[in-house]
Amino acid sequence: MPTTPSPAKVDVEASVAGERLLLIDDSQAISRLLRARCEDLAGVKSEIAGSLAEARALLATGPERFFAAVVDLNLPDSREGEAIDLVRAHDIPVIVLTAHYDEDIRARMLTKEVVDYLLKSSLHEIDHVATLVRRIHRNRDVKVLVVDDSRSFRAYLAKLLELHRLQVLQAENGRAALEIMKSDPGVDLVITDYNMPEMDGLALIGALRQRQPRSELAIIGLSEQGSSALSARLLKNGANDFITKPFLVEEFYCRVIQNIEQIELVRAIRDSSVRDYLTGLFNRRHFFDAGETLHAAARRRQLALAAVMLDIDHFKRVNDTYGHLAGDRVIKQVASLLASGVRQADLLGRYGGEEFCILLTGIDQEHLAMILERLRAAVESTPIAHEDLSLSVTISLGATLALGDSLQAMIDRADACLYRAKQGGRDRFVIDDSVE
Ligand code: GH3
Ligand code: MG
Ligand code: MG
Repeated sequence: MPTTPSPAKVDVEASVAGERLLLIDDSQAISRLLRARCEDLAGVKSEIAGSLAEARALLATGPERFFAAVVDLNLPDSREGEAIDLVRAHDIPVIVLTAHYDEDIRARMLTKEVVDYLLKSSLHEIDHVATLVRRIHRNRDVKVLVVDDSRSFRAYLAKLLELHRLQVLQAENGRAALEIMKSDPGVDLVITDYNMPEMDGLALIGALRQRQPRSELAIIGLSEQGSSALSARLLKNGANDFITKPFLVEEFYCRVIQNIEQIELVRAIRDSSVRDYLTGLFNRRHFFDAGETLHAAARRRQLALAAVMLDIDHFKRVNDTYGHLAGDRVIKQVASLLASGVRQADLLGRYGGEEFCILLTGIDQEHLAMILERLRAAVESTPIAHEDLSLSVTISLGATLALGDSLQAMIDRADACLYRAKQGGRDRFVIDDSVE
């Protein structure tokens, strides 16, 4: 196992566009604390500027690497929030930190179109900032549909949402919204007006709830001030929440964030019951649940199905030599190589420890051999960066195309082939030669 450092690999990761946070604060202590919390909580790396001048220099060298910035309102060379203007000029979302708060600051922040302004008064607030950073980072994968017949109000809502880096779709009435929802199943939140031609908000909410429950799709209804009965009807019809027009921008963001996080939480809970925590692959239970269905269909319709068992070679040595964290890193990397080496329709799971299993549909012996060799070669040739080490491992694989009586029988057969691959010297594959 070579242990040469591989700085090149780290640099490639670091330069991915839009993955970094820019911290501008003259207090090094706060910047360092924030950097650590944002890495822990949001998994994002930060670059630190101690002044407006330093921020200008950092932004001059590739502003596209920043997805957001946290900016101290008061810097020695930026008394009037010039640092905020600088970052906004690059169209980067800004979270402002302020030592105190008053109406005047609020008004100024609203005109500068910042994500939010937060008091930097306590450690608790630092975590609040990091949580907001995580939100902005994740928002790029969140879709919101805005439904309103007023073009200008739709545009206003879209702009607010886009400031938080959310993906925004727009519809001018309930019917148009339903069309979009049919063609785009990825919408997480719908914000809908009530009074619209063709199909109003209540009818839209009713139709959406036929298809998705409150826990899968969040809906916020908009109601006019003074019509409290309407708010109640929106909720009774299936809205998760409502906002009364006109609203405070802070209230709008608060509701939007809460509703998105609620949906994500439910999704995470669902995911955790079928996925393995370390690798994100399906766990063994789900592999068998979904695999039994594939196996039954293959038997009934006489379709080709291959079962593969694979195991990292001499993995105990990785743990013993470099520690358990390095071992975990290796397992994760092998998992992601496997995931990119199989098709979407194939079923890939972590069987346990450093063992993985795959079911491949519609495949013959020749293609199976090709895929196994490709997976083997991919793992062998991809170095795994851990701290300043570059590790490399190999895998052994066993596979069968014999359906047998059950999925378990198939897996056992593949496992016997895996054993033969290990006996034969590892870093190789063996395909079962017995035909049914
Ligand atoms: P072989 O080539 O025969 O497969 O040898 P091996 O060392 O890979 O096999 P063995 O089954 O003896 O060792 C597997 C080790 O994997 C033992 C166990 O401590 C470790 N392991 C299991 N799950 C995890 C995990 O989630 N993380 C880490 N770091 N290690 C794990
Ligand atoms: Mg092993
Ligand atoms: Mg093992």
